[in-house]
Amino acid sequence: MKKAIFPGSFDPITLGHFDIIERGAKLFDELIIAIGINAEKKYMFSLDQRKQFIQACFEKNTNIKVVTYSGLTIDFCQKNDVRYILRGLRNPADFEFEKAIAHTNRHLSSIETVFLLTAARTSYISSSIVRDVIRNNGDYTKLVPKSVRI
Ligand code: ADP
Repeated sequence: MKKAIFPGSFDPITLGHFDIIERGAKLFDELIIAIGINAEKKYMFSLDQRKQFIQACFEKNTNIKVVTYSGLTIDFCQKNDVRYILRGLRNPADFEFEKAIAHTNRHLSSIETVFLLTAARTSYISSSIVRDVIRNNGDYTKLVPKSVRI
């Protein structure tokens, strides 16, 4: 069974993540959306809220699971028999950043990273822009799935 993990902070999940997850779920038998816990990061949404937003989006998709994890993504993969990491690419900055992580992961393990190019219509969306819109009382609903409501 081909299992992949889509790791991220998802603070909050956006239409960009949603697009990558929907398309990624068609490529693998199981796609695990893994919310990373980083004690040093300050989040706008609690871990529970972030998890609930994602679960509500994909409750009908039987091959999509949502989990939380801490530590290295490759350690999570090895413990859970996951051989692929799925990541989305929006622009050259994402590519440079992701390239270094993917090379490191390949050096430390045999886990492959699979990249999907973002859909053109969501390529400009990031969780940090969504948080800015929320902080300034803008209409964030155009940038996130319907399950994200504050
Ligand atoms: P991180 O904390 O790892 O940056 P994010 O939640 O921001 O986590 O992103 C997780 C993954 O989703 C990354 O692979 C990122 O490139 C991808 N991603 C984020 N926004 C978009 C978007 N608008 N379109 C496609 N992929 C995206």
